[in-house]
Parts: sequence; C-alpha cells; structure tokens
Amino acid sequence: VRARVMQVEHSPDVTYEDIGGLEEQMNEVRETVEMPLERPEMFTEVGITPPSGVLLYGPPGTGKTMLAKAVANQTDATFIKMAGSELVHKFIGEGAKLVRDLFEVARENEPAVIFIDEIDAIASKRTDSKTSGDAEVQRTMMQLLSEMDGFSERGDIRIIAATNRFDMLDPAILRPGRFDRLIEVPKPEVEGRTLIFQIHTRDMNVSDDVDFAALAEMADDASGADIKAICTEAGMFAIRDDRTEIYMEDFEEAWKKIQAEADEDPDTSR
Ligand code: ATP
Repeated sequence: VRARVMQVEHSPDVTYEDIGGLEEQMNEVRETVEMPLERPEMFTEVGITPPSGVLLYGPPGTGKTMLAKAVANQTDATFIKMAGSELVHKFIGEGAKLVRDLFEVARENEPAVIFIDEIDAIASKRTDSKTSGDAEVQRTMMQLLSEMDGFSERGDIRIIAATNRFDMLDPAILRPGRFDRLIEVPKPEVEGRTLIFQIHTRDMNVSDDVDFAALAEMADDASGADIKAICTEAGMFAIRDDRTEIYMEDFEEAWKKIQAEADEDPDTSR
C-alpha cells in the first residue's frame, strides 16, 4: 500500500536553478525548511523553534512541488510525497494509518522532507461535519497534527504542504505550531516567465530569432507548467516540419494550440 500512495525519492534531481521567478519564495523556503535541516544547532542556540509546517499555496503548475524537491536536493534529504486525496478513504482508520506510515517512512529515512500535496482534501472547512465520511477525514487531519507535534522541536524532518484552494482551508491547521508559515506561490510575472522559458529551452536547439522576452509577453496568463508545455509543443512543431531547429513561430503556434486546448477542456486548463 505504501508504495502505491507514497512517492519516495532520495535527494531528487530538482535544484533551485531549475526554478524560474520565485526568488522570494525560494528564500523563505530556504530559511524555514533548509536552515533547520542543515543547521539545527543555530535554532537551539538562539533558543527558537523553527516553523513546524510550511504551507505553499497558489494556482496549479506554479512550482510548489519543485520548491519542495529543491530543498530536499539541497539538503540531501529524502523527499516523501503524498497527495491529500490519497488519505481520504472509505475504511475507518485507514487515513490515520497512512499518516502514521508516512512519518514512519520519514523517520527511517532522515533527514526527510514530507510533501503533502492537495492538503485541502483533508483540511477543508466543511459545511456539514456530521456525516461519517467527514468525521473520518477529520480524524486523519488530527493524526497529521499530532505527528507534527511529535517532531517539531527537532530539525531532521520538515513538512511542506501545498494547496490550490487556500480559501477552502480549515483555519485550524494554520494556527501556531501547525502550518504557521504561509508562502504564496503565484503565477509568474513577465520576468519570471522569461526565465522559465530560458530554463525549459536550455537543452533545446533554439534558433537565434527566438526572443524569450517577447514569448513571455505573449504567454501572459501562463503558469510554469504551461510554459514547459509550450516548449515541448514548439519542439513537436519543428519535428512535424522535419526540422531540428526550433523557430520563433513554432513557439507562437504552440501557445495558440495550448490555449485552444484549454478552451475546449476548461477542467484541465492551468
Ligand atoms: P500542482 O498544484 O498542480 O501540484 P505545482 O505548483 O506543484 O502544481 P509543479 O509540479 O512544481 O507545480 O510544476 C509542474 C511542472 O511545471 C514542473 O515540473 C516544471 O517543469 C514546470 N514549472 C512550474 N513552475 C515552474 C517554475 N517556476 N520554474 C520552472 N518550471 C516550472
């Protein structure tokens, strides 16, 4: 069961250089997650407790998972990911058991960064908390909070949660000693988009006429994930045309195609 719902990676290969346009967020994550892992004695000597949990919130595809992986890479930590939706189960006690397993795997693999994506699945404010399914979800959340209490003093396990639905969250999880450091990860501005285009074309055979700043202006509503998709699609346009070099117009066509697809299928649009 563990293997199916938990993704465990030792020192994942994402670095801070792979992330475009999130300088402030990177600094905050480094200070709150990386410092306690690398120099726990600093916190002891100063006499403060590092934040227990960090919550990253913002639209899909903006780099939240990347940030968590980059910290794990930098600190040579094990990255353990679980989606909140995986913790919502039909059987009584199963969610809480998975939470216990999650922390057990982390303890066996210290130092570790636990990343819980879609935390809103187990921590949303509910209109009707009387139904049994909701009570079970609530127990899963209580288990998570109690596991967090158990290690907050020590530096070798850090926990990062992420959500696209900040408005849905139960304020109880944001109280001090819980997810008490909030970091917004928004869609990139034009400078960020330029950097992200550069990052994703690093290994691509791009023609001299390609203007990344102009591409960033063009893709004005794109997330990092959208930009990655544009670059891959631009490469596909070149291949379809039997070329190995990618032109500016390939990127333009790629953006049009991706926008058209998003319009057709609003559920998957980013
Ligand atoms: P979700 O909420 O959907 O889980 P997320 O915010 O965790 O999304 P990631 O999984 O980190 O998003 O990003 C998906 C992919 O999009 C990354 O693997 C990367 O290729 C690209 N990407 C997203 N944001 C950035 C960024 N700021 N810089 C570079 N690439 C990015």
